[in-house]
Amino acid sequence: MATKVQCIVCEGDVPLPAEVMEGELLICPDCGTELEVVSLNPVVVAEAPEVQEDWGE
Ligand SMILES: [Zn+2]
Repeated sequence: MATKVQCIVCEGDVPLPAEVMEGELLICPDCGTELEVVSLNPVVVAEAPEVQEDWGE
């Protein structure tokens, strides 16, 4: 399995954890963008949506 994935924002290398899982969030070390793993094998990432403060119950 790939050990890194290309950032979709800055095209830099983002290291993948050894046991990456779908839905996992990664932070690009170059631009700080939050990337969500949307697919495995091959690993595909998408820019994670801005996380809103959840004031719900
Ligand atoms: Zn980046």
